[in-house]
Amino acid sequence: MAELFKDHINPGQFHFMKLLGFHKVKIETAEGMYYTDQNGRKILDFFGGFGSLAHGHNHPRVIAARKQFQDENRHEIAIAFLSQYATALAKNLAACSPGDLDMVFLGSTGSEAMEAAVKVAERASGRKNCKIVYAENSFHGKTKGVLSLTDSELYQGDFQLVGNRVKVPFGDLQALSNAIKSDPDIGVVVLETVQGGGGIISAPEAYWRGVRDLCDEHNVLWVADEVQCGYGRTGKFYAFEHYGVVPDVTALAKSLGAGKAAVGAMIAKRDVYMKAYGSPKTAMIHAQATFGGIGEASVTAMEGLNVLYDEDLIENSAQVGAHLISRLKQIQEKYPKIIKDVRGQGLMVGLEFQDFSKTMPMVLRPVLAMLDEKLKGSLSGFIGAQLLRDYDILVAFTEYNRNVIRLEPPLVCTMDNVD
Ligand code: PMP
Repeated sequence: MAELFKDHINPGQFHFMKLLGFHKVKIETAEGMYYTDQNGRKILDFFGGFGSLAHGHNHPRVIAARKQFQDENRHEIAIAFLSQYATALAKNLAACSPGDLDMVFLGSTGSEAMEAAVKVAERASGRKNCKIVYAENSFHGKTKGVLSLTDSELYQGDFQLVGNRVKVPFGDLQALSNAIKSDPDIGVVVLETVQGGGGIISAPEAYWRGVRDLCDEHNVLWVADEVQCGYGRTGKFYAFEHYGVVPDVTALAKSLGAGKAAVGAMIAKRDVYMKAYGSPKTAMIHAQATFGGIGEASVTAMEGLNVLYDEDLIENSAQVGAHLISRLKQIQEKYPKIIKDVRGQGLMVGLEFQDFSKTMPMVLRPVLAMLDEKLKGSLSGFIGAQLLRDYDILVAFTEYNRNVIRLEPPLVCTMDNVD
């Protein structure tokens, strides 16, 4: 299978998997917090598919809902009909969302949801040459529009980027204020509420209140990317709820599909949405795609939401996450030369290692000398992730800062799992 993967899917990615030792692992089954590989080895999942598995693997209620849908021969392409499934999901998502975040677009991925979010905001801003502010260290997806708002040479490569864009440092209110005040064409600000790929980085309440005020004062639309940090991951349904503010547009994906379907959603304030697409004339430029809100995906996401609340998974995320952080901080106190920082909220936790290249024993220095600067600086998280795999615990480092191990287990994670 390894050869076939290399020949037909992605030779570059195969190389990367080999580096991590994943090329030898074939996952046979998965349940709750665990994977089982081809040798019957159980692997505790603290990676959760980049935080996309709130309900754990193969939640029985989600499977049952899908099975019922299939057994009853149901099917529906939402774009063609007044879909009962898509409508029910949209109504429930609006109910989970504060303020008048009421209008829902359903797609299949986080990138698609973010594309829709940026489009609705750009139109509602009323600017002809609308400029979009995004943050350093951001990740919003790999389709061309949002790739252009993703601050990574790694992903952007030498593609032609699109749109009028202005980059500011994340969490720096003064920089945002300077940008908005100096350029009336700025109509949209796009920010992850917690930067995931960037290394699990959050900003204080004063920053978010400032973002809200600045946007209100200058008629700018704030888009909050909650694809990774939303859906209960930080101990609230949306991470922005920690700060008592509501953005104009937001986006969810990942766990929204309950680990079984590809579902992304853009949720916009009613008036914002109406400004953009409210008239029959503009209805067709709305982002709707062929498979958005398709029956089986909508039913899956609906049951996922039911489970999230019936099993108090958001509260569990808050409590188990606090336990995880406190246990890791105890270890950090004991080994400050190894662990630099422990941070996060709920079950979105970053464990940052000291730059190992600086503390490496003398005997290993020659090995280090063989690596380039970038690789040297990111060795610790890499080694940390490898070592944890020897204990049958699956974790991964964050994309931009590889000294940070991301701990984003399913929200069904228990105190015992943490211990
Ligand atoms: N936004 C954020 C914050 C993400 O973390 C991701 C995925 N890692 C995306 C957008 C894109 O989601 P997808 O991979 O489903 O397109």
